[in-house]
Parts: sequence; C-alpha cells; structure tokens
Amino acid sequence: MANRIKLVKGDITKIEVDAIVNAANSSLLGGGGVDGAIHRAGGKAILEECIAIRNKQGGCQTGEAVITTGGSLDAKYVIHTVGPVWNKVKTKLSMLLANCYQNSLQLAVEHQVKTIAFPNISTGIYRYPKNKAATVAVNTVKDFLEAHDTIEQVIFVCFDDENYEIYQALLGGDNDVL
Ligand code: ADP
Repeated sequence: MANRIKLVKGDITKIEVDAIVNAANSSLLGGGGVDGAIHRAGGKAILEECIAIRNKQGGCQTGEAVITTGGSLDAKYVIHTVGPVWNKVKTKLSMLLANCYQNSLQLAVEHQVKTIAFPNISTGIYRYPKNKAATVAVNTVKDFLEAHDTIEQVIFVCFDDENYEIYQALLGGDNDVL
C-alpha cells in the first residue's frame, strides 16, 4: 500500500502520469487556481470537451467527476471534479469531498488509468481547512486502493508548503520536491 501513494511538492501540470485531477467548478468552464493552470497548460482541447460535457449534462455537481483529454499535457486525461465550498453549516462536506476522490478514481479505473495525480481539492478558493481535507483525501484514497488493484500509483501533489507539511505528517516516507 505505502508505495502506491506518493507525495510530491510542485505544479500538477508538470507531473508525468496517465491522468491528473482538476479541482474544477460546476460550470466546467475553467477558473482560477489549479483549474486555470491546467487549462492554460493543456490548451483549448480540454475546454472544448468540457463545453461538450456541459452541453450534454449541464456541468458537474459537487462530488461528481467527468473526464476529458489531457490536451497538450503529458497526462492522457484530465479528470475534473468539483469539491465542496467550505461553509458554516458544514453538512455532509467531508462526504462530498470523499466523493470527489472516489468518483475520480472510479473514472480512472474505467479508463485503464494506472497512475493518477490529485491536487488538494477544495483547499484553495473553496477554503476547506487543509488538515481536515488531507485526512479525508488520504483515508478515501487508501480505502479505494485496498479495493482496486489496477491503480498502480496515486500521487498527491501539494502546491503550497502548508499542505505539503500536513501530507508529510500523514504519509511519512519518501517524497519528491519538483
Ligand atoms: P478549490 O476551488 O477546489 O479550492 P483551488 O485551485 O483554489 O481549488 O485550490 C486547490 C489547491 O490547488 C490549493 O491547495 C492550491 O494551492 C493548489 N494549486 C494551485 N495551483 C496548483 C498547481 N498548478 N498545481 C497543483 N496544485 C495547485
């Protein structure tokens, strides 16, 4: 199990994996943060497929995931998932965040993805507390990997120091800094 989960500090658009996950918004039309970075780096083919999905099913709900080409990225696919916005009511937020990881991994399995990289979903503009989000992410991914052996590696890509330190404490072991 341990060697199927890896921690990397850096920019997710630079990671060589079969699929990278995007922390998208429900419009699927792109935005700031990691979403903007992925669309900038991957080119217009990604947005075109997002628009086609949006026209077909009206965007993507919180906790759900959709898959597009990786465009000009190294990754073959981008899996777009919509994290929950942190709010004072806090109802079912951890379940919705867990759904993001689970549904993304499920799509990955369906597309024969063997290596996949996740950003720290919801911990930017959506303000989910980083330590809480990391616990949900790590637990959900571990549970999924125990039940699915076709995924060879999941990489958590932390962009900011705070997330990297939180994940280091949770995961331990060897980590890369890009
Ligand atoms: P959300 O709206 O889900 O909070 P954000 O993109 O605002 O999405 O932030 C999610 C996380 O992605 C944050 O922890 C942020 O530091 C991180 N992030 C921003 N740019 C990149 C990038 N290029 N690669 C990886 N992670 C990134």
